[in-house]
Amino acid sequence: MKDIVLSVLILLVFSMVPETLQAQFKWPGNAKAAVCFTYDDGLDCHLDVAVPQLDEFDFKGTFYATGNSQSLYKRMDDWRQIVSNGHELGNHTLFHPCDAQRLDWVKPEYDLNNYTMDRLMSELQAANSLLKAIDGKEQRTYAYTCGDFIAGGEDFSGKIQPLFRAARGAGEISESMDGYNIYNTPSWMVEDNSAAEMIAFAETARERGIVAVFMFHSVGGGYLNVDADEHRKLLEYFDQHRDDYYIGTFLEVMEYIRGNQ
Ligand SMILES: [Zn+2]
Repeated sequence: MKDIVLSVLILLVFSMVPETLQAQFKWPGNAKAAVCFTYDDGLDCHLDVAVPQLDEFDFKGTFYATGNSQSLYKRMDDWRQIVSNGHELGNHTLFHPCDAQRLDWVKPEYDLNNYTMDRLMSELQAANSLLKAIDGKEQRTYAYTCGDFIAGGEDFSGKIQPLFRAARGAGEISESMDGYNIYNTPSWMVEDNSAAEMIAFAETARERGIVAVFMFHSVGGGYLNVDADEHRKLLEYFDQHRDDYYIGTFLEVMEYIRGNQ
């Protein structure tokens, strides 16, 4: 009997938690959660597959193009054009340095362990200049390459505020909006996931009243891929649930959070 009473009490407490959390953060309109579609590394398939699909539903995405992206060099006008259509071009460094101790494909010259803070900050600044030359914008967000935020042994997530309005990190979805850090947000790296799995992620965010940030790479073929049809099905889901989700570029959603935290 004591056990039953205890179980009922625990259930009661847990059933109250989501409501309490939702009440703490108010999204625009009647939205229960927010969603950002982000795409990394400046790939042709972003221009050829992701953007046309987003445009079909009038959703805006955020594109973290690395400075040395071949697509950025060859199709600069196309990248400029998507920004004038409301998509966001974000900073993803010039050379995509990452932690070579964790990832064996990282070359020694692009190993963040070999960077100094100065070198990293200069690279981020130069990437901002490059992107400004393309889209004319000074408000920029950043996506940590490989989710890494340590350079030469030092955490730089607290030092990039002068360069960026917000920064997308990696890692699991947050429990709530309490203490949400717009300079190192969680995001979910999609890899060969089905639309159903991606929708489940969004619905978890909706239950918790938080923001779901999708981190895509290739769309419709390539590394860390999402199938083009699954991507489209995901957008269809959001099209059918427009009232539930506040969907914006990473910059837009983070500015909203900044203003309402
Ligand atoms: Zn990347």
